[in-house]
Amino acid sequence: MPFSEVIAQDRAVGALRAALRRGELHHAYLFGGPAGTGKARAARLLAQAANCQGGPEGRDRYREEPCGSCRPCRKIAADNHPDVLWLAEERVMARAGRWEPRAGRSPSKDIVVDQVRDLVDHWLSMKRFEGRRRFVVMDPADAMNPQAQNALLKTLEEPPDDTTLVLVAAGPDALLPTIRSRCLYVGFGPIPDAILISRLEAAGRSPAEARLAAALSGGSLGRALALEPAELDALHEAIRAAAGLAPDDALGWMAFARAHGEDRTQAADLCELLGIWLRDVLAAQAGGGSPALLDVADDTARAAATLSPAEVARRRAEVAWTLLALGQNASPVLALERLVIRWFSGRADGRA
Ligand SMILES: [Zn+2]
Repeated sequence: MPFSEVIAQDRAVGALRAALRRGELHHAYLFGGPAGTGKARAARLLAQAANCQGGPEGRDRYREEPCGSCRPCRKIAADNHPDVLWLAEERVMARAGRWEPRAGRSPSKDIVVDQVRDLVDHWLSMKRFEGRRRFVVMDPADAMNPQAQNALLKTLEEPPDDTTLVLVAAGPDALLPTIRSRCLYVGFGPIPDAILISRLEAAGRSPAEARLAAALSGGSLGRALALEPAELDALHEAIRAAAGLAPDDALGWMAFARAHGEDRTQAADLCELLGIWLRDVLAAQAGGGSPALLDVADDTARAAATLSPAEVARRRAEVAWTLLALGQNASPVLALERLVIRWFSGRADGRA
């Protein structure tokens, strides 16, 4: 069943399948939710199901599940069905060889008004070529700048026949309210850790790597799969280094901050992970729960035995504050220095 490729999104998939079964697709959908949760895949399956010719139902009906092997299904999978158009940021289209330079300017990081005008004035003004229903997938739709969004409004108000627009957005709030209100919202949620872990293990990750990647992924299978084993190793190592910092070794703290503060993303990943590790420590102190970070279980046990729960909670709050500061452009080295200083100078009680 192809729609089962979209994992852990029963509500969203159920709504789409019901619409296909009724033969009543909306003219515009907004697929919203974290990156890497199956939104684009669902958009492709929807286009396939509406145009599939693999079933016994007759040629005029949508199918609830695309067969995946008929001509339209294959063409849509290969991105060369003439009635299914994918729009992305100009820069991404250029990289895929689907962008032509205009008036000497270089490709934009946005979806720009030229692209939307092309879509509206040319592509949508033509008749369908061969499909049952025409699809425009804008992914990521939240990369449309305001002019581009305004250029799309009229199309959403007076949609062409037999056409469905799918706006795929990890940050639907970046879209104008006038755009959002003209689309039917289909929400995609974060994928639960247990499902991510089993997918990652099936993809060849060790149990420890799978747990760590799931914990860092924010519920996104795409992000979890993108985390390389070497990267995960380095993060485990960084947690061990943080766990091993001594309360009276200020030089060691500074060396730690310098070693892990070279890069903002790396520093933020480390802080996110420290927060997860401290959550494991708290869970160990409360006497249960299966830890997210298997490879640092010894450090977790040691911290659980030597720090009070109040102290662990205080350190977690410091980590959360640092993560916030990193998001607001604080220097990564300084943010990490401040974090370790606060770890060892502030105290929730006398034990740490
Ligand atoms: Zn098919």
